[in-house]
Amino acid sequence: MIYNEEFETLPREAIRALQVKRLQGVLQRVYHTVGYYKKAFDAAGIKPDDFQAMADMHRLPFTNRKDLRENYPFGLFAVPMSSIVRLHASSGTSGVSTVFGYTRHDIDIWSELMARSLAAAGLTKNDIVHNAYGYGLFTGGLGLHYGAEKIGASVIPMSGGNTKRQIMILQDFGPTAICSTPSYALHLAEEGKAQGVDMKSLKLRVGIFGAEPWSKAICAEIEQAFSITALNIFGLSEVMGPGIAMECLEGRNGMHVFEDHFIVETINPATGEILPEGEEGELVFTTLTKEAFPLIRYRSGDISRLITEPCRCGRSHIRMERVVKRSDDMLIIRGINVFPSQVEAILVAIEGLEPHYQLIVDKAGALDSVELQVEVSEKIFSESGGVKDLQNIERRIVKDMKDYLGISPRVKLVEPNTLQRQAGAFKKVIDKRKF
Ligand code: ADP
Ligand code: ZN
Repeated sequence: MIYNEEFETLPREAIRALQVKRLQGVLQRVYHTVGYYKKAFDAAGIKPDDFQAMADMHRLPFTNRKDLRENYPFGLFAVPMSSIVRLHASSGTSGVSTVFGYTRHDIDIWSELMARSLAAAGLTKNDIVHNAYGYGLFTGGLGLHYGAEKIGASVIPMSGGNTKRQIMILQDFGPTAICSTPSYALHLAEEGKAQGVDMKSLKLRVGIFGAEPWSKAICAEIEQAFSITALNIFGLSEVMGPGIAMECLEGRNGMHVFEDHFIVETINPATGEILPEGEEGELVFTTLTKEAFPLIRYRSGDISRLITEPCRCGRSHIRMERVVKRSDDMLIIRGINVFPSQVEAILVAIEGLEPHYQLIVDKAGALDSVELQVEVSEKIFSESGGVKDLQNIERRIVKDMKDYLGISPRVKLVEPNTLQRQAGAFKKVIDKRKF
């Protein structure tokens, strides 16, 4: 089912014309209300009026995560706080986190795009939606929630964790749809099986999964485990949250990007050059309707390919292929974005540690597991109150990683110079997972 027939099936030329018109308005607004953009445009020698057609896109400067961090917390907002009705944020300590604001209108648009996404999965007001995305500062939970309410479905605001209870509710409430990270879905399937629950006989018909990379093989595994259709949803909080792109039931190939609200480009991550549609590159997003936190040419770091062939569902919006690679060092651990720089920021704030560490990410069953090896300083090592001090440091690392980043690593303290000694082949991050 197509939720917004008029806009989701606009002819390509009409989409382009709408994008140009909307972007012209956005450029005027950001230039005159956000100091950062005025500076960036002036430095690039471009005025809002210079943008006349899509061919002018390359003249607009990129926005990077670094720009977001430097303007923490509210520096990029284009409206006063009195117009903001919601704040979300990425994980991290204050130097490395980013904050996103929404006006009432932004929330309305986001809800509509989520409603479009759920409709693309065949959901209606007759469905019961089990939403196991995390609620909170993370955009997943509330994003899905508002969209499900908008289509009139009955939402179960389950959030993450409490796996036993989730399995009970899946059996007792009989949801017809489930939303979560793909790895959590697999974890539910494994736990259910261990408890002797037949996950195939639940009422679930369809699942909407995203927030982390997942392969076609994992998709097949989930479909098999629950006997459902598993669809892919894509988004990033900077640009809005989930619901920027959604796979449709009919196409089963790539995700439609809601192009009346976003412009998507693929660029060569090394040179910044725009690639012809269809070539693999880094996705760059520009928002066309956001009021509080408009973004011009935001470099997502996600590597994908745009699919221009028309889709049999009738939607005219371009599709992006499944994302499984990044152009930077960002890791996604249990759906949470983590940069090595964020781990470093936590470690340097703890006395008695050297900034030498190794993060080893692997799978423990369906879920991600993390081991963090950290060198302690010579001083602590030689003169400390012994084991007790070391235990305190270990506890502090575990707590800060949980508090700031939302991940719970196994921590192993090692003697000074152990990690560096492996120089040459030494890597701060070892990711053993396969996508
Ligand atoms: P989300 O709620 O979508 O996880 P975040 O801002 O926390 O939002 O994370 C965004 C990042 O998560 C994206 O840049 C991308 O790397 C990853 N991501 C989101 N959805 C998908 C998906 N369906 N497939 C692969 N990666 C995804
Ligand atoms: Zn389609």
